[in-house]
Amino acid sequence: MSKILGIIGGGQLGMMITEAAKKMPEHISKIIVLDPIENCSASQVGAEQIIADFKDKNAIIELAKRSDIITYEIESGDSDVLKSVENDAEINPSPETLKIIQDKFLQKSFLLQNNIQVPEFIKIESISDLEQGLKKFGYPSLLKARRDAYDGRGNFKIDSPEQIQKAFDYFNEKNLMLEKFVPFKMEVSVIAARNTKGQIKTFPLVENIHQDNILRKTIAPARISEKIAKKAEEIAKTTMDMLKGAGIFGIEMFVTENDEILINEIAPRVHNSGHHTLESSETSQFEQHLRAILGLELGNTTLLHPTIMYNILGSKNFEGEYKSINLSEQNVFLKMYGKKISKPLRKLGHVNLVGNPGETIDQLLKKLETLKDRVSINPA
Ligand code: ATP
Ligand code: MG
Repeated sequence: MSKILGIIGGGQLGMMITEAAKKMPEHISKIIVLDPIENCSASQVGAEQIIADFKDKNAIIELAKRSDIITYEIESGDSDVLKSVENDAEINPSPETLKIIQDKFLQKSFLLQNNIQVPEFIKIESISDLEQGLKKFGYPSLLKARRDAYDGRGNFKIDSPEQIQKAFDYFNEKNLMLEKFVPFKMEVSVIAARNTKGQIKTFPLVENIHQDNILRKTIAPARISEKIAKKAEEIAKTTMDMLKGAGIFGIEMFVTENDEILINEIAPRVHNSGHHTLESSETSQFEQHLRAILGLELGNTTLLHPTIMYNILGSKNFEGEYKSINLSEQNVFLKMYGKKISKPLRKLGHVNLVGNPGETIDQLLKKLETLKDRVSINPA
């Protein structure tokens, strides 16, 4: 029986979930997204839209009434309201899991309780907590908003005691936590899925390169030993065993100089570092997410070709309409998200560079250098 899918959030992730859903008409008959931005990315590819804030109680209730199953592309939905509408629609991942994950402090506490290694952290409620914490962790340390952070916008790196007051004031009384800075040698992530029947599958470990706190590129597979890749995938599986609910989880990790692996954070949703799967794998993370929440057999996650995903971000010093990008290059796949306006570092699209047989990651990285100018954002 074909179902109506509701998605909280209709940005690029909701858009790519919608596109995957439209390829499964025997399972999904209609897609409705809840998003505050009129003509959001997902609505441009055929989703119906309820225009409202992600936390709007009445809008969430309406979405649940109109949908058979609900999922999300952002973690800031109101988990209590979602919990209250569980009779109207099946919600995955579960509101309980969302509630833990959407608060970085609760999330890290949960991981620690389950013996999964994370960077050292403490809760911050006052400036004196912060001073104490910095005495313990030293400099630099990261002050983080516990909720509603994305693309590093909820983080403040404190390099010296002079910055304590500024960092504290920057957040304006939000719930905060302090984290010890990890001098990692690599950032990696695992995209893991569990279906409603309990089957778990992970995509191979990828390497993530951030700039200005924002993901810039993902290299699949990660340039790291087989042993560490295995270990990271094991940690991802253990984490999945602890978390309830079905769907894709993006698990971000740090690999330290001593080859320890610490979890940085978990996203209870499809993840930017899984966009390469659109072209590198038989099953994309978006299809896998749908398979997971629909209780279908999970798809094959083997990496078929080495692939680099490069995010197309708004230029730092420009806001406004931008020139469209055209690329027609073999094995280069451009995906724009239909956003009319560029803003500094806004995620506007991505390209996947897929390796030909025998082509190495180094060769792909060189190829990316020759493409960068052509995918940069310029005023219209
Ligand atoms: P995103 O939306 O990109 O996942 P976010 O806003 O949730 O980001 P984090 O994932 O906490 O923020 O941090 C963003 C980046 O900042 C990390 O990917 C990493 O590069 C860096 N970072 C975060 N925490 C630490 C840490 N404890 N030590 C070193 N670097 C860190
Ligand atoms: Mg992160």
